[in-house]
Amino acid sequence: MKMRKKADFPQKICLHCQKPFSWRKKWARDWEAVRYCSERCRSAPKLTSAAEE
Ligand SMILES: [Zn+2]
Repeated sequence: MKMRKKADFPQKICLHCQKPFSWRKKWARDWEAVRYCSERCRSAPKLTSAAEE
């Protein structure tokens, strides 16, 4: 008998807000390509060192 985790979905860390987010059905087709937790993060300006200029 094995205990099976309830949350069986994969997780990723959002590139923008650095928060973990879980698989969602709407990403079923391109989960591999998902980098951000939400549309807002996806369209937000990147947090890079570009500001150093
Ligand atoms: Zn995010």
